[in-house]
Amino acid sequence: MAKSRKVAEDLNFNNIVNLQFDRAAAQLKLPKGLLQQIRVCNSVYYVQFPVKFGNRMEIFQAWRAEHSQHRKPLKGGIRYSSMVDQDEVMALAALMTYKCAIVNVPFGGSKGGIKLRPRNYDAEHLEKITRRFTAELIKKNFIGPGINVPAPDYGTGEREMAWIADTYDAFFPGQLDNMACVTGKPVSQGGIHGRTEATGRGVVYALREVFRHADQVRGAGLSGGLEGKRVAVQGFGNVGYNTARILDEEDHAKIVAVGEWDGTVYDPKGIDIAALHRHRKRTRSITHFPGAKTLPDGKDCLEVDCDILIPAALENQITRDNAGRVKARIVAEAANGPMTPGAEEILAGKRVMVLPDIFMNSGGVTVSYFEWTKNLSHIRYGRMQKRIDESLRSSLIGATEHLVNEQFPEKVRRTLLRGVDEIDLVRSGLEEAMITAYREILDVFKRHRNVHDLRTAAFMVAIQKVAQAYMELGIFP
Ligand code: NAD
Repeated sequence: MAKSRKVAEDLNFNNIVNLQFDRAAAQLKLPKGLLQQIRVCNSVYYVQFPVKFGNRMEIFQAWRAEHSQHRKPLKGGIRYSSMVDQDEVMALAALMTYKCAIVNVPFGGSKGGIKLRPRNYDAEHLEKITRRFTAELIKKNFIGPGINVPAPDYGTGEREMAWIADTYDAFFPGQLDNMACVTGKPVSQGGIHGRTEATGRGVVYALREVFRHADQVRGAGLSGGLEGKRVAVQGFGNVGYNTARILDEEDHAKIVAVGEWDGTVYDPKGIDIAALHRHRKRTRSITHFPGAKTLPDGKDCLEVDCDILIPAALENQITRDNAGRVKARIVAEAANGPMTPGAEEILAGKRVMVLPDIFMNSGGVTVSYFEWTKNLSHIRYGRMQKRIDESLRSSLIGATEHLVNEQFPEKVRRTLLRGVDEIDLVRSGLEEAMITAYREILDVFKRHRNVHDLRTAAFMVAIQKVAQAYMELGIFP
């Protein structure tokens, strides 16, 4: 008797991204060679370097992949995780190329990572490792304001970015643009207001725009806006926390579940995200949050009853094994590659709307672009115009009050008077990027009868733009 054998799903991240690329490329009338050039990763730097901790020496493995040099500098985060390998950084670098094209940010895609578990090292050790890796990147010309500009990713944040900037500055003393060698720095070190929350806020701006297109969300069985929608979030780090916080505070969505590596907290009445954040700070874990139920597995959050599921941790979380149990009507990919193609097929069969990573999490690189231009111009956004803006508003308010012979209530007056600051400009630029990107993707989706998912449409938008750059520039020599 023939046994039915289950074929294992290919979880190789690079293969998955290439498959997604091929599906989109098949819909485009572009030369084969050109498509191949867009698809391949241009170069990868692999290094093993030593770091001394007292009398002990440890060797670290690290990578920096440069996927596409069609625009310069190249841009992409640096990840600290025990799971980093060459395929992962190559896949993530490719996604960066497509992401930048989608939000019209003039960079090529790159990504890097060090294979380590940050929780196993204290700040002093992490600083040494980060500085040594930066030196390795400098040696091989894999970092520089006009060459390759890293940013935070999984396991890194503004602290690591400050160390990178300072190390670069030590190697090139006196060069004016040094601060633009990395983004995601603390505001006091050349960073920009709104970068830390940017990826999460971008996810929210994207969701708001998606819900403005009622015909699309109706297909997934939803209607109305974000208010009251039940949301589950996996990962309570930079992206997950900021997405959940903004959805909770500004959109009045109901965050019913949050998953972390050590468990899920669940409350169908909705979780107060600020309070959960304080609880995590105090206890170092989200589990056993008062009033909520603790489920044993971080992955449990993927299967709770909700309207919108936001994976914001790592790749390959929703696979063929658990996709059938996903109850959400929309999956908004805040993490890179959280879903396998097999899972996507299952969700498509259930008419679940999948909002792809290369669009959803592009808010981070968008604001990184603003930070980079700020560093090159050496002036804070809003510094020149804030007071003139306020003075013009004051004249307008005065003239209006004079005309109607009535005064605005004090609270309204204060709001109207406030001139724009850096944070307002950053949020405005981010919102514009996310709205424009979604409309471009939706337009391609609607114009191509053979395209049944937004991921393929998003890849088509990206490939078309990169192809255009190559066709205009030509190939050297
Ligand atoms: P982070 O390190 O700040 O947070 C990740 C969180 O996920 C951590 O709190 C970690 O404990 C948690 N986690 C780990 N394993 C888990 C599991 N099995 N279940 C649930 N939670 C788990 O990282 P981040 O910057 O928020 O990045 C998250 C994702 O978003 C990654 O895929 C990253 O590539 C992507 N991303 C980040 C940015 C950015 O600006 N930081 C930009 C674009 C995309």
